[in-house]
Amino acid sequence: MSQYVKDLMAEVKAKNPAEPEFHQAVEEVAASLTLVLERHPEYRAAKILERILEPERVILFRVPWVDDQGEVHINRGYRIEMNSAIGPYKGGLRFHPSVNLGILKFLAFEQVFKNSLTTLPMGGGKGGSDFDPKGKSDLKIMRFCQAFMSELYRHIGPDTDVPAGDIGVGGREIGYLFGQYKKLKNEFTGVLTGKGLNWGGSLIRPEATGYGSVYFASEMLSTKNKTLEGKKCLVSGSGNVAQYTVEKINQLGGKVLTMSDSNGYIFDEKGIDAEKLAFIMELKNVRRGRIKEYTDKFKSAVFFPADPKLDYNPLWNHKADCAFPSATQNEINGKDAQNLLNNGILCVSEGANMPTTLEGVNIFLAAKLLYGPGKAANAGGVAVSGLEMAQNSMRLPWTKEEVDSRLKLIMNKIHTTCMTMADRFGTPGNYVNGANIGGFLKVADAMIDQGVV
Ligand code: NDP
Repeated sequence: MSQYVKDLMAEVKAKNPAEPEFHQAVEEVAASLTLVLERHPEYRAAKILERILEPERVILFRVPWVDDQGEVHINRGYRIEMNSAIGPYKGGLRFHPSVNLGILKFLAFEQVFKNSLTTLPMGGGKGGSDFDPKGKSDLKIMRFCQAFMSELYRHIGPDTDVPAGDIGVGGREIGYLFGQYKKLKNEFTGVLTGKGLNWGGSLIRPEATGYGSVYFASEMLSTKNKTLEGKKCLVSGSGNVAQYTVEKINQLGGKVLTMSDSNGYIFDEKGIDAEKLAFIMELKNVRRGRIKEYTDKFKSAVFFPADPKLDYNPLWNHKADCAFPSATQNEINGKDAQNLLNNGILCVSEGANMPTTLEGVNIFLAAKLLYGPGKAANAGGVAVSGLEMAQNSMRLPWTKEEVDSRLKLIMNKIHTTCMTMADRFGTPGNYVNGANIGGFLKVADAMIDQGVV
């Protein structure tokens, strides 16, 4: 670690105690940017990185709501408006009991670089609540969403801050949030993305993160003259990103062996084909059940319950060619990374945000694996959110084919940017450096142009 990164990290940790995920995200980016800051002292003099890691604004608010039995509940709501140098704040809302300031700051920080990589004019933000939607009735979800938006609405707007979904926030939640915003503001604007198709949503937005992550994997494989055809794939998660990752892998001829939720994972050696995926989509999106139920229906599969005593995740210890972590942060540790390599993995494309620990990342990089970090590989979701914003501004919807071809082109451009930047700064094939540097330069130049604000 360079002296610059050491000093920076000491300051970040002192100023932001008890935010380990935020420290982790900053350390990874700072290590990549050492190369840039040596060549460009003007960024260092203008303290660009120091400014980027301080949110422009953090909004923290009380969310009181009454459930259908009349009981009062209090949750905590957040919106981190991280950086608006290249466009309105943009990034998802996460509803999960683990949500805290440090997790949202890491996500907002990553989002700044990711949004810049998409080539679209979007700044970075993130938000959410420690509310747990799991197992709650639609009525409870609606009441919570209305209470959450009753405060958030005064801080967001189509030209200010445009939230979207993330863990625990899908189409249902975006609908309730949008309805409450519209009622409070008396205006119909593209203030949220991931909307329903009948009321301003974009075709392909639900699919975009998963599809994009698979397109990115295909781009990485193509540098070695390989494709996904016939490749065995490990996927974690069974939510939005995981589902459409599996769909696209199947379309491109790959075979998916695993999916998971927080209770454990299923291993299906025959592959999770389109029919089995339809079962999972109904299970997760309509019945809101647990992944274990898959094994009741498909006897070729085995369920492995999550075991908190293990210091590795057995999902990553099967023989496979490609891995698509698509659940949550830090789901691949050093031991998992080593297990993947020992089993002959060719390529890892991160659908989730920061699913690999720093130790795991360093193991992948040392092995010169085709390793696509989340801020590049999962940027397809926010990219199509950006396209949804464009369609809302024009008040014109594009066809599925048009959005999908733009998504493919954007993923291709992100891949090219990563490769070019990694080469330019002397670390060919290092997508981590490529993504961090490519994302940084555009934001840094905009910040210099706009002065110290
Ligand atoms: P969903 O809520 O739709 O699905 C999340 C999935 O991950 C569920 O299967 C969930 O299981 C599992 N999961 C969540 N937390 C944990 C945990 N702590 N341990 C084990 N499993 C867990 O979310 P998304 O699919 O939207 O998001 C998945 C990842 O992708 C996140 O990292 C998110 O930030 C990232 N991402 C999402 C984008 C999007 O467009 N939605 C865009 C870019 C990145 P369970 O139901 O049991 O909790």
